[in-house]
Amino acid sequence: MKLLIVNFHYIREETYAGGIYPRTVCQLAEQVDCLSRHYQFIAPAELAAMTAGNRRDGNFCLLTFDDGLKEQMAALDLLQRKGVPAAFYVTTAPIRDHVVADVHKLHYIRSVVTDIQLFDLISQRIDLSAVTYPEDIDRLYRYDPPESKRLKYLLNFILTADEKDRIVRAFFAEIADEPAYSASLYMDAEDLMTLSSLDYLGAHGDAHLPLATLSTEGIRQDTGASLDFLRQQCGTKSIHSISYPFGGPKAVSRTVAEISAGYGFAFGLTMIRGVNEDVDMETPFLLKRVDTNDAPGGKLGSTEYCI
Ligand SMILES: [Zn+2]
Repeated sequence: MKLLIVNFHYIREETYAGGIYPRTVCQLAEQVDCLSRHYQFIAPAELAAMTAGNRRDGNFCLLTFDDGLKEQMAALDLLQRKGVPAAFYVTTAPIRDHVVADVHKLHYIRSVVTDIQLFDLISQRIDLSAVTYPEDIDRLYRYDPPESKRLKYLLNFILTADEKDRIVRAFFAEIADEPAYSASLYMDAEDLMTLSSLDYLGAHGDAHLPLATLSTEGIRQDTGASLDFLRQQCGTKSIHSISYPFGGPKAVSRTVAEISAGYGFAFGLTMIRGVNEDVDMETPFLLKRVDTNDAPGGKLGSTEYCI
């Protein structure tokens, strides 16, 4: 058995200088057609059954859409027309509280301010002279120029939550209306019901935090809050799975996986790259996943995962 899990975020027609890197519906359609030549698409409930021991032979693909972005409903329309299932992982606090997750504030800022300008603005406020960057930073952020890699690393892993919040929120407040942007960016209650009725709905944290950086109680609180909201909106129907926000090695840990298992999910998705094989079904809370760019039919034209 081989299982390729492919991840998407923004689905829109516009293009930006930075920050937001969407796929268009047309590009998604072409990628689905390409993937269908190598893999059989499965629904999240089918993968839940496989991780529970109902093993099947074959090459399978699960399409996933993270963050609960409204524009992903256009992707759902396309996939419905093609008869292709998918999983949609929704971050709950933005929908419940009409706020914008810091990661999306940052994307928006970076779509209107260059990375060099933003890096300069941060260094004017905070002393960065002692900061060192990891040797594998190129692998961590594969698609970004050097100043963007450093900026992302700073914002994701170096700045304290308070420092980051202060900077990102201050910039965002200068250039956007938060409730209005939230309403335009995220799904609403009706969208959640649509996804739930298809059995495509999954969890993606409450506040979109790198869970492994939180205390055990913090991980429980965030995961529990996201499930509470999804169940309140959509009933107690099973939410099969969680996609860990950010999903990389610094955002996911054994503790995060164990706590997720304790909440009754069937599997959890990382952003650690690779194709899952039979042995990976033994650790269903640490499944590998690849970005749309790397998958067959993706922007990079890679054939790495063509089997
Ligand atoms: Zn996310």
